[in-house]
Amino acid sequence: MGRHYLAIEQAYRDGTPTAWATSGTSVEMLYTFDVQPILPENAATISAAQKVSKKYIESAEDLGFSYDLCSYFKTNVGAMQNNAPIDLGGINPPTFMVAADVICDTHVKWFQVQSQRYKVPLYIIDVPHVTSNTTNKQKEYYQLYVEEQMLELRDWISEITKKEYNEEKSREVITNSYELSEYWIKIFELRKAIPCPVSTKDTFGGLFPLFTMPGLKEPIRVFKKMYQETQERVDNGIGALENEQYRLLFSGIPFWYNLKFFSILEQWGAIIVFEPYTYSFGKFLDPSMSKEYIINNPIKAMAKIMLSFWYIYDLETRVREFKRVIKEWKIDGLILHNNLSCRPNSCGLYDLKQRLMEEEGIPSIVIDSDMNDPRKMNEEILKNRLEVFMEILRKSEKR
Ligand code: SF4
Repeated sequence: MGRHYLAIEQAYRDGTPTAWATSGTSVEMLYTFDVQPILPENAATISAAQKVSKKYIESAEDLGFSYDLCSYFKTNVGAMQNNAPIDLGGINPPTFMVAADVICDTHVKWFQVQSQRYKVPLYIIDVPHVTSNTTNKQKEYYQLYVEEQMLELRDWISEITKKEYNEEKSREVITNSYELSEYWIKIFELRKAIPCPVSTKDTFGGLFPLFTMPGLKEPIRVFKKMYQETQERVDNGIGALENEQYRLLFSGIPFWYNLKFFSILEQWGAIIVFEPYTYSFGKFLDPSMSKEYIINNPIKAMAKIMLSFWYIYDLETRVREFKRVIKEWKIDGLILHNNLSCRPNSCGLYDLKQRLMEEEGIPSIVIDSDMNDPRKMNEEILKNRLEVFMEILRKSEKR
């Protein structure tokens, strides 16, 4: 990630094109044109980790943005308003912006606001959401619809950068992205082992290259090392937690300003072994996306990734996927983060909880907090609630 931010600073110095992209957007298209991607959400997590997100959020609220809006958005607005340095989450206005409503409509409104404030051209990709009753015919149409937009985006970037699209480069970028994701998913497969070799600290910390640097070679080397180390731990029966008793799933974005909070679980011998959020950035999860397919159809693959992202799963698919994960990763209980900033992360949580309790008998707890706004996290209440939850787990049948 240090390399990523050095590359951003280098692009600022050289005056080469930079682009803001929302997560879930096809960053691979930017790398195809040698445009330096910048993910404002990622920059916002830096502000949170450096304990300055509250200040920036309040600064955005002073400008009139509501208390209830996404705290990533407000962190970005406040950081720019205060000319924050790069190591506190500050980023410059880019050459252009690309937003998609793959994950949320906030992304679109966020970039509309910032593109108008800083007079930067913006391209929006409209991605239809697959719902429980979407037919295969409709899915085919959605694919064509997003593909069309990707072709238009390609021409739009080509015009701005004055660079021709290079199909060979595109294949190379998508192949690198695929290999990076492949290692990530392989690490997740190894997390099925008992004891679990990798905890949530590593996955929340290691996730970022998947959406900031998909297309480069360097992160593949890092992920390969992480995979080899994980394999070694599995072979030697080394767990991330010394005395693993309970295996948990954490759904949602973590609290970036207080990641150490998760270590509270250790006193009960509990470890998080799966997070749908970090898993979803494995991206090539649609089984129709083989390596051959993506190499031969880079732009089609970019469209497909956006249409098969975990966050746009309907409730039925979500229930089905959660059941699979519970079984394969041998999960004892679920912690569901009702993120006050984020509707896509919170919507349907109670339905999901109820269905999984009724159909799988798996205990779960819904906790209220926020990924970037520390004002919305009450540590004492969370601790008490988790203590009660662990008591429930102790009394329930071990899987
Ligand atoms: S946190 Fe949620 S609302 Fe905010 S940008 Fe991300 S997906 Fe959208």
